[in-house]
Amino acid sequence: MMSLVRLLGFTTLGCGCVTGRYREVTTNREITYVEEKGTGCPYPTHRRNHTLATTGFGLSAVSAKAS
Ligand SMILES: [Zn+2]
Repeated sequence: MMSLVRLLGFTTLGCGCVTGRYREVTTNREITYVEEKGTGCPYPTHRRNHTLATTGFGLSAVSAKAS
């Protein structure tokens, strides 16, 4: 993948994974990569250097932490 992306910031999820948010400059889409896999993370979809779906994902992580 040679798409040009711009780093927006990092987020630590409730499961311990660290994700980085990027904006793809060519399409103006926001994408999320798993930067570091949390040691206790139970989600098989959280894999290092894999993209995550952004829709609703950050919200669910926040509400899980708050409850
Ligand atoms: Zn995780």
